[in-house]
Amino acid sequence: MTLPLLFGPYGSAAVEHIDRFPQANINALWFHGFDPAAFETCQKHGIAACVEFKTFRADFAQRPDLVPIGTDGKPIRYGELVQGVCLSRHDYLDETEAALIAGLKQFEPTGVWFDYLTYAGWFETPTPDLQDSCFCPDCIREFCQSTGIDADTSQAILSQHAAAWTRHKCERVARYAAHYAGLVRSLRPGCVTGAYMCPWTPEEFDHALTRIFAQDYSLLAPAIDIFTPLIYCTKSGRPQRWGRDFLEASPRFVPAGKPVQLILDVLEYPDSLLETAHSTIPSLGIQLFGGKRIFEDPEQVKLFAQAVEKIRAENKS
Ligand SMILES: [Zn+2]
Repeated sequence: MTLPLLFGPYGSAAVEHIDRFPQANINALWFHGFDPAAFETCQKHGIAACVEFKTFRADFAQRPDLVPIGTDGKPIRYGELVQGVCLSRHDYLDETEAALIAGLKQFEPTGVWFDYLTYAGWFETPTPDLQDSCFCPDCIREFCQSTGIDADTSQAILSQHAAAWTRHKCERVARYAAHYAGLVRSLRPGCVTGAYMCPWTPEEFDHALTRIFAQDYSLLAPAIDIFTPLIYCTKSGRPQRWGRDFLEASPRFVPAGKPVQLILDVLEYPDSLLETAHSTIPSLGIQLFGGKRIFEDPEQVKLFAQAVEKIRAENKS
């Protein structure tokens, strides 16, 4: 399958400017869920409709049973921003799957990007509170059954079987990715699958990408056509060239043939996009979180259009 080169804002609020998308060389819109109004407007204007699909994220106030269990046997610490759920709560996972199937049957997205396809935590911050999870009895049992390891506490697992534990978590997330991608590919052949990724290299924060978030590029690769790390520089306390640095480092840990498409944040616009346009390894398209804002200023629209031209040219060469 030839993957499309898609450029556009993330956020359904941008639809109010959809008639000006061509001025910015924008051909796609990413929005949350299977939003009927967004699909309709995209179709009317010939814009590729791309869905951000929530997998493992819930309102813990409503569903305290979904809060993962930490190493101390208690629910993990969390703030307003947290993703990940206990993956032994099958009623929640059934609901997630049903929502994906219903959306795919009703709508024809160009792509579906799986969001929060991770174990628990939050990475859009310079000072992440990283906690290993989930050590509920069901998740420990699942680990023992699938690995043949006999361990009944977090201490036993982490002191004697840490590598197997991380591997098990990554495989568990990858199995869901494969299942969801299978649904997309069978119900909507030709629809692209994407995954929003923790934007850290595999080594950062003591291998937190796999150790905490359980995102392993190699294990996810069969399910995911396009990897999309969240390059939110201000929120994460990183320089404007973070996206460019990520792209240039990516061949080291993203399997060959699997493209990276950055999602940038409008808070750093246009600097991070201009940096990205100079990467020796091009981004396969661009998403701009909160991108509606560029339409407040014709100069910003022009800059986006120019960056798209440059990135398109780099993808051809
Ligand atoms: Zn659990």
